[in-house]
Amino acid sequence: MNSPYEVLLYYKYSRISDPEDYAANHRILCERLNLKGRILIAREGVNGTVSGSIRDTAEYRRAMDEDPITAGISWKIDHSDTHVFPKLSLKVRDEVVSLNLGSDDFSPEDLTATHLKPDEWREMMNGDDVVIIDARNDYEWEIGRFEGALLPDVPSFRDLPGWVREHRNELEGKKILTYCTGGIRCEKFSGFLLKEGLLDVYQLDGGIVTYGKDESLKGEGFEGECYVFDERLSVPVNRTGGSSIISHCAICNEPSIRYRNCSWKPCNAQFFCCARCETEVGRFCLPVCQEAAIMSPVAVEGQ
Ligand SMILES: [Zn+2]
Ligand SMILES: [Zn+2]
Repeated sequence: MNSPYEVLLYYKYSRISDPEDYAANHRILCERLNLKGRILIAREGVNGTVSGSIRDTAEYRRAMDEDPITAGISWKIDHSDTHVFPKLSLKVRDEVVSLNLGSDDFSPEDLTATHLKPDEWREMMNGDDVVIIDARNDYEWEIGRFEGALLPDVPSFRDLPGWVREHRNELEGKKILTYCTGGIRCEKFSGFLLKEGLLDVYQLDGGIVTYGKDESLKGEGFEGECYVFDERLSVPVNRTGGSSIISHCAICNEPSIRYRNCSWKPCNAQFFCCARCETEVGRFCLPVCQEAAIMSPVAVEGQ
């Protein structure tokens, strides 16, 4: 494995008393190391995904591991030939992940569900009276998910509490397993489920990314690929053989994991569009978008 770059995914719930000050110093560190990616900083902690040369990411990890605020991060590391982000975006937010709970909000440091290692998760997945909830957004699970998972049709993490309340009768009395990309959203979401009075709740420690790296499981039980928030768009999980593509081109219905945005600007919806259709038909998610584009070419991206 001689890839010259690494992609890091990480989070740490911690107390950051002055997020603005912390962010200013963190930016200096990232810029010195020429890292690119997305980092959120809040009073409750830090969540990031960055790419850089292996020497720079090693130094970044060392700096974070030595800082008492961020010591103990469980790093998810992928290898890469290049940067996978166009630039560095570092933002201060009220929360690193938000369920929009207002005055009912809580910290996962105070309330979160039992963590399962990949092998424990795999074993429990197969049990009776188990429901698995995909805690990600709809455009993420469309590319890939655990077999048999409930797939909340929500465009944003903030909409999950409403979905839980609507589907409560499917969850009551069951063992509830939750998972997300790298684990941070489930720290919060699984705590929310407990707070709602659901009793038997578990979360996949380190998320799909960690699960996919387990050498004995090889990602079994996961279908499709894992959506990631960088230029790669998705990464493989299941290495047990067979096709990993479960999504289809919206135009020709052939298997495709190629997400694109509709080039009819007022629509701009994200959809699956294979390379051939993009060339032959254009990047339109629906025939009406294509028709609208003919009527009004100025509203087409790239025109
Ligand atoms: Zn197609
Ligand atoms: Zn469209």
